[in-house]
Amino acid sequence: AAGGTVRASDVDQLIRQHAPLCMSNMHASLRADKHLRHGGRMQYGLFLKAIGLSVEEALIFWRTAFTNHTDDKFQKEYSYNIRHNYGLEGKRVSYSAYNCMKIISGNPPSTGDHHGCPFRHFSQGSLESKLYSERIGTVYVNEIMNLVRDRHYQVACTRFFEVTHSQYGENSKIDTIEHPNQYYEASKRLAKE
Ligand code: SF4
Repeated sequence: AAGGTVRASDVDQLIRQHAPLCMSNMHASLRADKHLRHGGRMQYGLFLKAIGLSVEEALIFWRTAFTNHTDDKFQKEYSYNIRHNYGLEGKRVSYSAYNCMKIISGNPPSTGDHHGCPFRHFSQGSLESKLYSERIGTVYVNEIMNLVRDRHYQVACTRFFEVTHSQYGENSKIDTIEHPNQYYEASKRLAKE
């Protein structure tokens, strides 16, 4: 989808329907805080690029999300980095989205950060409440929490996918999630069937 088929105005709905927890968590924080710190902007921005948000649409998306910033501040502090991620500034490398391994073993989020992997970086209590808030049944919450305690974060994410796509029956069974964009594409594919 590198051609840029996703519009800034589509993002809310696409995230709600198809994004893994790491991305929906950052999206929710962005909407709540009208801001997202650097680690989140990198992880989420490159994910959005990979689902097909062009640089023009990315600039619209982030500009409108950061409602409390003046145009001047936005241009100075953020627009360069967005263009940079698309290979339009600096070394002109077009960066690719992070895979799960990089997210899970990378710099952990500190207070105020929202990047990372919820299965790896949330406290057990917050992860459990998050799973319940996604209307996951107790049996599955326990199963997922056990996987997390055994440090099988990507398997936990895969089970989360399968449980939240159970309306598709056997088709909801997928290969272990290695990449957030793999999760997203698998979810979109099911919705099209
Ligand atoms: Fe995101 Fe990967 Fe963690 Fe799933 S396992 S929440 S896709 S980083």
